[in-house]
Parts: sequence; structure tokens; C-alpha cells
Amino acid sequence: MLIDGHGRVVNYLRVSVTERCNFRCQYCMPEKPFSWTPNENLLSFNELFLFIKVAIDEGVNKIRITGGEPLLREDLDKFISMIHNYKSDIDLAITTNGYLLDTMAKRLKDAGLKRLNISLDSLKPKVAQKIAQKDVLERVLKGIDRALEVGLGVKINMVPLKGINDNEIIDIMEYSKSRGIKVRYIEYMENSHAIESLQGMHGKEILAKIKEKYRIYALGREGASPSFNYKTEDGYEFGLIDPHKHDFCESCNRIRLTAEGFLIPCLYFDEALSIAKSVKDGDIKGASEVLREVLKNKPKENRWTISNSNSQEDISTRAFYETGG
Ligand code: SAM
Repeated sequence: MLIDGHGRVVNYLRVSVTERCNFRCQYCMPEKPFSWTPNENLLSFNELFLFIKVAIDEGVNKIRITGGEPLLREDLDKFISMIHNYKSDIDLAITTNGYLLDTMAKRLKDAGLKRLNISLDSLKPKVAQKIAQKDVLERVLKGIDRALEVGLGVKINMVPLKGINDNEIIDIMEYSKSRGIKVRYIEYMENSHAIESLQGMHGKEILAKIKEKYRIYALGREGASPSFNYKTEDGYEFGLIDPHKHDFCESCNRIRLTAEGFLIPCLYFDEALSIAKSVKDGDIKGASEVLREVLKNKPKENRWTISNSNSQEDISTRAFYETGG
């Protein structure tokens, strides 16, 4: 069992397989970074898998593949099947923008994938285009339908932004409800890579919009999930992820691995240790030692605070496209 320096059990590993993305979302990667990590610095799937085996052997039972856009990485389905074949009861999921799902959903399902979280910030083609800085909506919606068709579990992620998509909170809920899937609203997390003028919505503002149409009931957190669940009067369940509140940090069960091999204990902070050398040398003991060192120093909580100042102190320098959000 993996236990961190604050006594929390860590059983959840998020693996970013690429920092590259085919969208340029205003809140994440509005401009292509000055330079990408050179391909030769990326860990191969075999190298990532070596670490994943160590993590699974030590207690990880939930793995999410993310990015950047994970579906851009070639042979992702083979990587999924490597993990699935090693331990088939791992809760194996992907977070994706859905753009390439129409063609890939079946292969991913056949490889052993169980679930997908798909980002959907708008149902209006022009607004989706404004956020992603690309005409994306039609393909994303097709991707969602295809994923459901092949039997993958699907959840929707929406990041509500003031003056951009804040009037679509109910629409996205109705869309999700009509497909029998759950939506999770994510508070915009300030970071130094996003467009500066963006204004996110606080959790209570998101809930207020929903209350304009529905009476809602709080259900509570689902285990160690950062999502706080609610139910509408007609029985539809949705989630709210509000990192500014910190209250889920006390049950945080996750660590993150980047495509370059940095093991990150908290999404907010820059601190990380590399497992690259260990896995390149096939050194299982070394990889395990790095893992334990990272756990020992996992911060107690993130430092997103509610502020309208956008002052540098409130802003994480971590790029979500490196860590996988
Ligand atoms: N490309 C994939 C996608 O779009 O889902 C996976 C990577 S993306 C970094 C993972 C999640 O992080 C997405 O749901 C995205 O909406 C969320 N995200 C990215 N930047 C964010 C920010 N600044 N605040 C809140 N959520 C963010």
C-alpha cells in the first residue's frame, strides 16, 4: 500500500502520454508552447509501463491516461492493452477532448479501456470554436456518440467561463442527461499559461445557475474524488470540482506522471522527481524509491485561492497540458 507523508493512501495514478494537443483552449494552451519537449525526451510506452507495473504492484488500482491530447499519441490502444493485460481489474480511463474518438473508440474499448472523461465546454459551434480556437464541435459530438455506441462509460467535463459559456451550464446538463451520462463542472484554475483576461466561475455561481431551473440536493463526495456530487429534483446526478475550496486535498489519493517521466505529487506545485533514468535502466528498485520519495513530500493541499486579482501569487505556473489536468 502506498501512503504519503500526511497518512493518505495513494492508489490513483494519472499518466500524461503527451503534452501536445490538437486544441488551443483558452484556459489551458491558448498558444502553442515556444517549444515542445523533443520526442527523444519522451518515455516510450515500454518505459512508462515499467513504472506503471511498479505502481500497480505497490497498490495503484486506478489509472487515467491524459495529456495534452492522449489520442494523438500513436499506438495508444496498444499501451492500454499492455496495462489491461497486466491487471484487468485496474480502473482504466482516459481524459480526452473527443476529437479523434469517432475513429478510435472501438479500438480503445477492445484494448480494455473502461471509461472516458470528455471535455465539452459548449454546444454552440461558434463558442466551442472560440474556446478551443478551432472548429471542433461536430467531431467531438460524433466522438461522444461513438464512445457510447461501443459501450464505453462516459462523463462530460465542462469549464464554465464568465461571458463565454456561462449561459450553457443548463444546456450541457440537459445534453448529458439526454444521453444518460454525468456532467462535472470544473472551476477554472488560474495558471500562467491561460489567456490572462479569462474569468472562471466559482462553484457557488455555477450552482446558482443550475438552481435557476432545478432544486438541487447535495450528495457529498464520492470517495476520494475531487468531485462533489449533487442531484436535481428529477433525479439527475452531476458533479462540481472546486479546487479553490481545498477540502478534497485531505483525501487526495493521486499522483501524476508526465510523458518525460516526472512524478508530480500535486497539480498545483512545480516540485517533481524524475523516474526517467530508473525506467531507462530497467531499475525497478530505483523507480520504487523515487515513488516513495515523492509520496513522502506530497504537499498537504494545493494553493488555488478564490481571488479576482489574478495576481501572480494566486497563479500556478504548472501547465495543465504537461500534467494532464
Ligand atoms: N486534452 C484532454 C481534454 O481536453 O480533456 C486531456 C487533457 S486536459 C488538460 C484535462 C482536463 O483539464 C480537461 O477536462 C480540461 O477541461 C481541464 N483543464 C485544463 N485547463 C484547465 C484549467 N485552467 N482550469 C480547469 N480545468 C482545466
